[in-house]
This record gives sequence, C-alpha cells and structure tokens, in this order.
Amino acid sequence: MAKRDYYEILGITKSANEAEIKKAYRQMAVQYHPDKNPGDEVAEEKFKECAEAYAVLSDSQKRAQYDRFGHAGMGGGGFDPGFSNIEDIFDIFGFGDMFGGRQRTRSRVQRGSDLRYDLEITLEEAANGKDEKLEIPRLEGCEECAGSGAEKGTTAENCISCGGTGQTRYQQGFFSVMRTCPNCSGKGTIIRNPCKECKGNGRIEKEKTLEIKIPAGVETGSRLRVSGEGEAGVAGGPSGDLFVVIHVKEHETFERQGANLYSAVPVSFAQAALGADLRVKTLEGEEDLKVPAGTQTGTVFRIKSKGMPELGGRGRGDLFVAVTLITPKSLSKDQRKLLEQLAEVEDTEFNDESFMDKVRNIFG
Ligand SMILES: [Zn+2]
Ligand SMILES: [Zn+2]
Repeated sequence: MAKRDYYEILGITKSANEAEIKKAYRQMAVQYHPDKNPGDEVAEEKFKECAEAYAVLSDSQKRAQYDRFGHAGMGGGGFDPGFSNIEDIFDIFGFGDMFGGRQRTRSRVQRGSDLRYDLEITLEEAANGKDEKLEIPRLEGCEECAGSGAEKGTTAENCISCGGTGQTRYQQGFFSVMRTCPNCSGKGTIIRNPCKECKGNGRIEKEKTLEIKIPAGVETGSRLRVSGEGEAGVAGGPSGDLFVVIHVKEHETFERQGANLYSAVPVSFAQAALGADLRVKTLEGEEDLKVPAGTQTGTVFRIKSKGMPELGGRGRGDLFVAVTLITPKSLSKDQRKLLEQLAEVEDTEFNDESFMDKVRNIFG
C-alpha cells in the first residue's frame, strides 16, 4: 500500500501556505474531475488522491500530524478523508454546476456505497499481520445485462416526462422547485423489458470472497481501505470502497497500550529474596528474566522489543513485566518447618523509610 506524499500529489512544497494549497487543489480538482474525464479511472483515482491530500493539508492539525509522522500518523492502513462519494468531495468548494451537465448525470450514474466489515482478530494476529479471507455480501453489477437492468438485446429508454434528467421542475410562485421525476423514480430511464436475472436493478446481491492483508501492528479501531471493493455503482458508476475495521480481542496474558505490552509474573518469597532466573511469556514464546535478590512485589522489568510492532514496520514496543509476590495458601510439612525456622531468625522490624511510605500510601 505505497502512498504518495501529499505535497507531491498537489505539486507544492512543504512550506506552502493555505492559499497555495487551496489553489493547487482547485487546479487539480478541475483537471481530474470525473465529469471532465468520464470513464477514466486513472483520472478518478487522481481526483480522489488530491481530495485526500487536500483534506489533510488544509486542516492545520492533521497537517502537523502528517508532517511529523507521514502517512502512518493518519491512523490505520489508509486515511479516509470522510467523503462518502465524489459529490461530497466536489462540494468542498461548492463548485456546483460548474461543468454543466452535472445535474443530468447525477441522478443516473452513481458511485456504489462504501461497505464496512468488522473483523475480530487475536493479539498474536495483530502482532504478526495476517492474510484474511473475507466473505462479503454485496451488490455486484449484473453480468447478464452488463448492469443496465434491461433484458439482453434491449436498452433502457429515456424517460419522456423528465427528458432523462430524473428530475422535473415545478413552478411555485416565484420559486421553481426540482423534484424527483415520479415517472422514472429519478433514474432518467424507463426499462420496458427488465433483465430477469436482476429484475431490472442492474445489480445483484452476491457473496464475494476477498483476500486482504492485515498489516502487523494494527489495533482496535484501525481501518483498512480496500479500494473499489464496496458495492457496484449504478449505471456504470464506480464501485464504492470496502473498509475493514479491526477489533483486537483481549488477551489472557497481555494488556496492550499502543506498541507496549504489559503482563505480570508470579514469584515466591524465596525467589524474590534470593533472586531467580525466571522464564516469562512473550507473544512468540518465552524469554529469560533475571530477578535480582531483594526484589519487591510490584517491581516492573522491561524486556526490550518484545512488545507489538509499530504499524508500518518501524521497530517494536517493549514488554513490561510486573513481578508479583505470591504467598502460599497451603504448605507442605517440610515447607512449614523451614519457614518456622526462618521466622525464628528473621528480622521483623520493618522500620525503613520506604516501607513506611508504602504504608501511608495504602491507607491514604
Ligand atoms: Zn441484469
Ligand atoms: Zn423521468
């Protein structure tokens, strides 16, 4: 998922000011607008790319984040500027009817809807990345009629009531009001012989199997955009996008905070007092942890680079292990005897400062 630099997309320098950004975007938007490049998918991609770049760079907060972290700072696998379709992008500037004929095409050619798919994965899968097969029920273009909705060998006719615009004009006093054409329900066309396969809709609900790559380092809320895998467009319009929203399941051993992991390891009094070589669980297996003599309960040790990978492949977080002293609930005969001997010789005057601090903390 190599993404181009937003500044490069708009052909501006990193120091460009607001007005320059706006001007550059406007030029690009006019050049690549779908109405000027009908059916040109490259132009449409460019148009979307520009809109995304503009959405980020025109927002000082998003721009600052992008300057610091690049695309990775935009969250998830792909930044979604929040536009649901071309028309929305277009309306940032209120270009309105600038290209003429826009009103005519709007009612007929429609971009397919974006789809959202919620995917639950384990923490291990989030750490390693995963190839996932998704079964997605969605509307696809009907092959039988090539999406036209008209029976093979026939074509849809232009609606006479609205002349194919899908809208009719009503005069009401001073105002003229546009209404959806009741004759064709806004489609602009009438199908005399509907396609039997899709009943004239031009689209059919189908289950599509998609293979997607989940990058290592995703977290709950990460959104992956799969371009063009949403629902089919209407009357030759482009497909929508599919958004896969990640949910990472809770793990029985680890808590995650960003790229770092947290866990607890139990130690006995003898281990804590004498020091011990422990084996602690990591995401991949086990790791040695040397606990020095005199370790207090709650002491946290850091195991470097055993946390989660950073999204985008730059380094890994750390694993923090809290040592927790466990008091045995039952003792064997031998253990009891030895502990009794210990009790006779041990120093029970806990009068050092740090201990008293702890006591104060407990009782607030
Ligand atoms: Zn059909
Ligand atoms: Zn009509």
